[in-house]
Amino acid sequence: MTDTSISTLVGHIEASARGGIQSTVPVLNPFSGKRIYDLPQLSASQVEAAGQELRAAQVAWAETPAVKRAGILLELFDVLLKNQDKLIDVLQLETGKSRAHAFEEVSGAIQSALYYGKKSPKFLQREKTRAGVPVLTRTWVERIPLGVIGIITPWNYPMALTALDVFPALAAGNAVLQKADNQTALSVLILRQYAIAAGLPSELWTVVTGDGVEVGNAVTDNSDYVAFTGSTATGQKVYQRAAANFIGASLELGGKNPMIVLPGAKPAKAAELAIGGAFGSAGQLCVSIERVYVHDSIYDAFVTELGRRTEELTVGRSGEFDFDLGSLTSASQLARVSGLVDEAVSKGAQVIAGGKPLPAAGPNCYSPTVLTDVPEDARMFRGEVFGPVLAVSSYSEIEDAIAQANDSEYGLNASVVGPQAEAIRVANRLNAGSVNVNEGYRASFASMESPMGGVKLSGLGRRNGAAGLVKYTQTKTIGVANSGLLGAVIHLPNRAREWKTMAPLFRILLKVLRRF
Ligand code: NAD
Repeated sequence: MTDTSISTLVGHIEASARGGIQSTVPVLNPFSGKRIYDLPQLSASQVEAAGQELRAAQVAWAETPAVKRAGILLELFDVLLKNQDKLIDVLQLETGKSRAHAFEEVSGAIQSALYYGKKSPKFLQREKTRAGVPVLTRTWVERIPLGVIGIITPWNYPMALTALDVFPALAAGNAVLQKADNQTALSVLILRQYAIAAGLPSELWTVVTGDGVEVGNAVTDNSDYVAFTGSTATGQKVYQRAAANFIGASLELGGKNPMIVLPGAKPAKAAELAIGGAFGSAGQLCVSIERVYVHDSIYDAFVTELGRRTEELTVGRSGEFDFDLGSLTSASQLARVSGLVDEAVSKGAQVIAGGKPLPAAGPNCYSPTVLTDVPEDARMFRGEVFGPVLAVSSYSEIEDAIAQANDSEYGLNASVVGPQAEAIRVANRLNAGSVNVNEGYRASFASMESPMGGVKLSGLGRRNGAAGLVKYTQTKTIGVANSGLLGAVIHLPNRAREWKTMAPLFRILLKVLRRF
């Protein structure tokens, strides 16, 4: 990416600052540790001013027919597909993902434009409802945009999460005030630039950057609804702030996602599925698998296969599909992951594969890691690692495996590997927002039609599908007393004498309604 194209993108943030930039932060390339550019940091008052402009612009957008708004998303789909390689380049530059993992994310982002481009007019359609007093009245429900939607996104899936949350918010007739994470603002800004090229009025989507607390709070304070994705600790603060402002919120938070391997599973295939489920985006994925429970009849064979296959994985930097894994996204991620692994090992965990940084591959690279015997007092036993680290343990009774899988404060995603019918029976008993059978996370994650979200401390609310759009609307019920000839003859009673005449008819009506 050239310096000119970076400064064109960052120009949007500078414009929101209205020339009053007080500070910047250097954004570092995860692969090299070198500075890419300096990102302006906005203040709360600059975010407030941006929010007011969005509020004014949203009025005309709400009046724009839903089909026309959806048409812009379909146009955007074409633009994004044409520029897919450029999007992947920007995503790799900021996140350090391998080409394959960046391709997977960008494909998800592009799909969101297609899905909501096709489906949003249907989700927003006026819905005829059964009238309370048929003949005399009729009713229907309109879906009204909420106004300005605050969207706060993390650094790990900046393009997919932007597309999955921002596109339905715009399609529903809202304006969007988005806080991008400092590390991955270009990924958000380039999507915005393409959306404008596809016909979105530029004044409807403002991206702001800055301190998490100051700018994050300002986004919540200047929105009519906030969609937050990030850690559970921050999500709890956002939810409290939203409650104080009396606005709705959806919270997509952390996970500690289990996989259960049934006795009927083939060890080699199960090991490959664990690799696919655990090491996507170097494990920096909310739905990735972090713990595996394997039946003791195949435990040794599984651990041997998993260890050997994990050691074969390649880690490095390339703009082609050369490496299985890329880099961790930042030095703080490297410190976090190595710290959690080192602590577990110092308390007795066994390293089956990896377990160390890979400085020869890049300053923030870490080896894909398999551990066994992780003790209960290690922080990673219950806490999210958010890196390429898989903890394996054995079970002898399926009830015990299910209990251990469910014994977590999180409930985002889970996986079951083994003969399909039995695996589906186990899947039904796992307490998570999604469960994948003979897959780690992609079978559910890739389905735009299927709601995604968590239970317990993994979140509230859902993205994707109809739910991912209607949360950005409120219903308005229109009730109409019938007019014309019928209305002139008969109407809802107002006076006691009218009630006296109508009461027997209402009783008959209630009896008739019982039959339908
Ligand atoms: P984070 O909570 O530290 O930050 C997320 C975003 O919130 C960033 O933009 C940050 O600047 C902002 N922020 C920080 N303090 C804030 C405040 N007080 N008010 C408002 N915003 C504030 O999370 P992270 O480390 O960037 O992301 C990793 C976490 O996100 C992991 O726990 C991961 O599981 C989770 N995640 C969840 C999903 C999901 O869909 N469930 C998807 C991706 C990531």
